[in-house]
Amino acid sequence: MNETKLYARAKINIGLDILGKREDGYHNLVSVMQSVYLADEITVKKIDKPDYGIKVSVENANLPQDERNLAYKTALRVRERYGIDTGIFINLKKNIPVAAGLGGGSSDAAAVLIALRNLYGLNMDEAELYKVGLELGADVPFCLTRGTCLAEGVGERLRRLNPFPPAWFLLVKPPVHVSTADIFNKYSVGEKTMQRPDMERLLYGIRTGDLHEICREEVLVNVFEPITGAIYPVIYEIKKLCREYGALGASMSGSGSTVFGVFIERESADNAARRIKERLGYRDIIVTRGFNA
Ligand code: ATP
Repeated sequence: MNETKLYARAKINIGLDILGKREDGYHNLVSVMQSVYLADEITVKKIDKPDYGIKVSVENANLPQDERNLAYKTALRVRERYGIDTGIFINLKKNIPVAAGLGGGSSDAAAVLIALRNLYGLNMDEAELYKVGLELGADVPFCLTRGTCLAEGVGERLRRLNPFPPAWFLLVKPPVHVSTADIFNKYSVGEKTMQRPDMERLLYGIRTGDLHEICREEVLVNVFEPITGAIYPVIYEIKKLCREYGALGASMSGSGSTVFGVFIERESADNAARRIKERLGYRDIIVTRGFNA
């Protein structure tokens, strides 16, 4: 086998709370993470020329193709660690909006790790895969696991949960660039006025497959929302529109700027997508479904 193709799925955060800041500057968080069908398409090829190095080509997005690209960084790390002496070519077809809180870069990294392990038959057990993944990014371990998980620590402590009940997600990304690092830095731990998600209730909703419980206003809460929302108030407008057009609930994913609405029927999600597109004219408005590994 000289070539492999994989889907790198996006994730959304169903409820996100920050428990504290760590000495290393990272934050301890708790969140239910959910994979969705929306995915980048990753092709990895073994190139039998020793001086070829690593080449990354990106379709559909304006992203660096050098070591600043997480897919490149992943290949470089694996190449050095396992002494791979062939060239590696990676094509990324980006369907996941970039810098959107949908974990696109982390998912690409996870897919490249799996692709290289398979292509080169690397002696890389699960523990090793997760270790290398975590070095590349806090969300990479989840992107290796996929499905529905409770994530804790910086996102590396994962517990698989019952699959998210059947639902359609409408993802709306405003055309603004949110830096995850900026939003984390602006968050001050212990902010008293901040609304926090009722995680017990969220976990109960997932355990019992009760979508209404999950979508309660006090459950579907992301503590980063007031921070990103203060810079881009359109976040609140999108949430309002999602609800107006039939979403059971709506929330921001990660540090934003994507807002997702939760719908029971595909038709109502499609209809909301159409109406929001008419109102706001954004390019990145996507209807997708939960992906359960
Ligand atoms: P997170 O919430 O995990 O930070 P995100 O969904 O908000 O992720 P990404 O789409 O992963 O954001 O991109 C974050 C930054 O990483 C972007 O500014 C982008 O330039 C950089 N980046 C590097 N490699 C990639 C990649 N393969 N896909 C997307 N972004 C990448």
